[in-house]
Amino acid sequence: MAFPDRRLGVYCCGHVFRRERGVRLVSHEDGDWQFLCGDVDHVDPDEPYHVSVGVLLERDPTIDTVSDLESDWAAERTDVHARWIRTPCAPQA
Ligand SMILES: [Zn+2]
Repeated sequence: MAFPDRRLGVYCCGHVFRRERGVRLVSHEDGDWQFLCGDVDHVDPDEPYHVSVGVLLERDPTIDTVSDLESDWAAERTDVHARWIRTPCAPQA
């Protein structure tokens, strides 16, 4: 599986945007994709950053393996070489 449209707009955290960390958490909620480092220290007021998924794929082609993630599901991995673990997103309060 692969993202059919490399220009698809997605969100990412500042760490991923600045290439400081790899993507370890992907969520697909309400049609929006988020690619995050999976850590909790997000204090950048400009987050989330909006990018084309193709930009992220250039750096890490393994992101294509979650392109079939269903809506309102998330995928996590312990490091960028590990397998994705998929879970349904918790309902929003
Ligand atoms: Zn981050």
